[in-house]
Amino acid sequence: TFRAIRIDKLDKGTAAAFVDFDESEFMEGDVTVRVTHSTLNYKDGLAITGKSPVVRRFPMIPGIDFSGVVEASASPAFKRGDAVVLTGFGVGEQHLGGFAQKARVKSEWLVPLPAGLSAAQAMAIGTAGFTAQLCVLALEKHGAKPADGPVLVTGAAGGVGSIAVALLKKAGWHVIASTGRPEEADYLKRIGADEIIARRELSEPARPLGKERWAAAVDSVGSHTLANVLAQTKYRGAVAACGLAQGMDLPATVAPFILRGVSLLGVDSVQCPKDERLVAWQRLARDLDKKLLETMTTHVPFARTMDVAQEIVAGKVRGRIVIDME
Ligand code: NAP
Repeated sequence: TFRAIRIDKLDKGTAAAFVDFDESEFMEGDVTVRVTHSTLNYKDGLAITGKSPVVRRFPMIPGIDFSGVVEASASPAFKRGDAVVLTGFGVGEQHLGGFAQKARVKSEWLVPLPAGLSAAQAMAIGTAGFTAQLCVLALEKHGAKPADGPVLVTGAAGGVGSIAVALLKKAGWHVIASTGRPEEADYLKRIGADEIIARRELSEPARPLGKERWAAAVDSVGSHTLANVLAQTKYRGAVAACGLAQGMDLPATVAPFILRGVSLLGVDSVQCPKDERLVAWQRLARDLDKKLLETMTTHVPFARTMDVAQEIVAGKVRGRIVIDME
């Protein structure tokens, strides 16, 4: 057996608890990993608190990300002792996840730990940082560049937001960070924000078009915020949308698209194909300043995972969380 958090379905809602989990209950997979680190994303908070029905199989071990060392492999792609990273693919939602000392998964879901990153740093990045990098790649593919004007990051003090701020600053952008936590202004400036704006400037119902303020944006908030972001994007600019911290809805008009040629770029990290996945990890290993990453990261022991899950759904977590499993 090994220690794990298990979520069970109750008559009403779900319950999460630490248990000793038996390997015989593992789901299908050709690689067994000794998990050394995990992390807590917004989605993990939703799974543990049961606030939103992200778990689709019971019992479930939550944890959508992990890093660790291969213990046994029936795949030619990995051998015992290899350092690996997993993000997404429904792990922690449909397949037993990373809040455990061991995990068994499909080899196609794993990537080798990128050169230049430790297992802990890979989890300081996690799905949130990986998604921030995918947003940056999407903006680059669109042709967006710092000479076009400023870039906006919403939910800036969160996980996706913090890493997006750092990556965009490193790429030479003038970064505008939107946050609901003015007390995090110093933190945001330290990690790369040039300007800070208040969340409420963007969170109320949007007009179809506003003053053109940014050439590009990374939005992890959705809803009215995304509508406002689009309405204030410069002619031919682009917005990478990856989140729903404010809401799943998008109460916008087509005005920014048809009058300003603005592009809305959708970003999903969960099913991201292997080739792009490897590119994104390489870029993170190369471009993300490791000292800044540490500034954004809070390390917590496995035993504290449940408390931090409550904090992330309450919007109280700053930057990224690494869970030390050992
Ligand atoms: P997080 O650390 O909790 O960050 C979310 C941030 O959004 C918060 O820190 C807060 O930033 C802001 N926020 C929270 N509630 C808000 C509200 N009601 N209105 C406006 N802003 C609000 O979570 P995360 O892990 O970075 O994830 C961010 C979002 O991206 C989540 O919705 C998550 O589901 C999504 N996501 C999607 C993918 C994908 O594959 N598409 C991958 C990862 C994450 P401030 O305090 O700075 O305002």
